[in-house]
Amino acid sequence: MNVCVYTLGCRLNQCESEGIADSFTSEGFNIVKEKEFAEIYIVNTCTVTSKAEQKARRMIRHFATTGICIVTGCYAQMNSDDIKSLANNIVIIPLEKKAHLLKLAKHINVAMDSGMSLSASIDSFADVEASVFDFDAATFSYHSRAYLKVQDGCDNNCGYCRVHVARGKAITLDSEKVIKRALQLREQGFYEIMLTGVNLTMYDHEGDGLGGLIEKLLAVSAPDVRYRLSSMEADHVDDRLLNTFKDDRIQPHFHIPLQSASDKVLQRANRKYDMKHLRYIIKRLKEIKDDPFIAVDVITGLPQEFDEEFKETYDFIKETEFSQLHVFPFSPRPNTDFENAKDKVPEYVRDERATLLRDLSVELHDKYIQRQRGKECDVIFQARRKGVYTGLTGNYLDVLIDNPPVFAKEGMLFRAKFKDDIAIGEKPYITILEDK
Ligand code: SF4
Repeated sequence: MNVCVYTLGCRLNQCESEGIADSFTSEGFNIVKEKEFAEIYIVNTCTVTSKAEQKARRMIRHFATTGICIVTGCYAQMNSDDIKSLANNIVIIPLEKKAHLLKLAKHINVAMDSGMSLSASIDSFADVEASVFDFDAATFSYHSRAYLKVQDGCDNNCGYCRVHVARGKAITLDSEKVIKRALQLREQGFYEIMLTGVNLTMYDHEGDGLGGLIEKLLAVSAPDVRYRLSSMEADHVDDRLLNTFKDDRIQPHFHIPLQSASDKVLQRANRKYDMKHLRYIIKRLKEIKDDPFIAVDVITGLPQEFDEEFKETYDFIKETEFSQLHVFPFSPRPNTDFENAKDKVPEYVRDERATLLRDLSVELHDKYIQRQRGKECDVIFQARRKGVYTGLTGNYLDVLIDNPPVFAKEGMLFRAKFKDDIAIGEKPYITILEDK
């Protein structure tokens, strides 16, 4: 039977979806992509923007014309009635029961063996024992590297965000369990592991933050394993964490939710850091790693972002030469402090700023790629399609591989070198130097 797990939103959702897909694989189901036919669609939704919710509704309506649609995730948590009304064959799984989906495949097999129909078997699925940290997949259907969830929830209350409302308070997986899972993933053949969480830098196990966790991980990990962090909120980034990045096994790729570079706007949005701290982090990252890939999220049109504050943000991003921007025009979300904010920016101004930043992102990303000419890097072999071989470098660039070894398989790690001629706006080529 075919099952499609369709994911919207953050890397944590992607990580959890892989855990769910893996539980179906191990029960003999066939995992397919969204364009293929499936009897069961599991849609893991996101509530960060109204756009993500619109897309979820569109996909759910589409999937429900073909199969049974099981919907979970932050949007399903916040607006289950809206989703339920989209079609008849929709089953909502609230966030506190999302991990129960890891046991659904087994239940379906047992129920159908005893003569139940597929829909009756899903309807009869009752509560089971499962924790939010049980999404530890042994196989990954939609990615060539492994995800490891170490944290969930968030104790902050940013004015624009309702993820913390949906996901609840910050919780952490014990460091011993993180280490055990990381070592298992390497044994299963994964060379790259991405640590994920809702607010990863809020990791706190017995007073040890994310820096302490990474120190312990590095102390026991093989030299050929690579770690990547899904995202880093600035407020809990300290020197202990930054110092762990000196290890080559931490990939030179960082993702920071900046949102604005104006202290006034950050304060209004109830962000827990200021630009002095953010500048310090960026300076240290650039000292520790050779030209790391630093991507930032930016929201345009946040309350109090007038022309001067936007200029501060634009100039800071340009001067700092970030490698990529993820730009989100602000739209007030229900159940947030900004739902009825009075100091809003007109929508057309918000959208103009988004366009300016997206253009800047293209320019900065191209510049970053051009700076890689002739440099050495790690690369994870990704795919071999129609004679074209692709990979993902340590500094998070999609590349084409010039000389793929015949034995190369998805997920393998190689040392490589960027070619000297990189055409503007095109994917760069790399040459494999050796098998790690
Ligand atoms: S840090 Fe802010 S934006 Fe991020 S999840 Fe927590 S409340 Fe939301």
